[in-house]
Amino acid sequence: MKNDVCIAVYALAPAPFIGFDHELKYIKSFKNSLSNCSCIIENSGAVPNELNALLKLPGVGRKTANIVLSAGFNMDTIAVDTHVHRITNRLGWVHTKTPEDTEMELKKIIPKKYWHRLNGTLVVFGQTVCKPVSPKCKICPVNKYCPSRKL
Ligand code: SF4
Repeated sequence: MKNDVCIAVYALAPAPFIGFDHELKYIKSFKNSLSNCSCIIENSGAVPNELNALLKLPGVGRKTANIVLSAGFNMDTIAVDTHVHRITNRLGWVHTKTPEDTEMELKKIIPKKYWHRLNGTLVVFGQTVCKPVSPKCKICPVNKYCPSRKL
């Protein structure tokens, strides 16, 4: 199973910066939302580089906090949004009901070296191939690993 997951992540992400635009969008929106935040101003303008501190900021949930840690601080984290949650359940990597559970389960089975790029990769994959409705299983590069494929 762990091997299949590694192969699939690699097949989905041949370029190291695939999905970077998506992460950049999050960082920009995060920065705008915090520009007048008193807790950041009190912290000499520095954005925290720790998950629990980020989660205390207004409007920041686990997904945004993990993207900030990953894209902003180059840390190994997995940001789970609707694409990551849906696709990893379809692939059978996890069997979870919530994005938070998905994050915890993925961290158990995916080697750390893939965490950083997982969100951006699966967002692009979810927008173009494994769409919420009518996924394009016939052209999917990992369909042979997927128990949910419809060919
Ligand atoms: S085979 Fe279909 S359901 Fe499975 S990952 Fe590919 S597009 Fe998604």
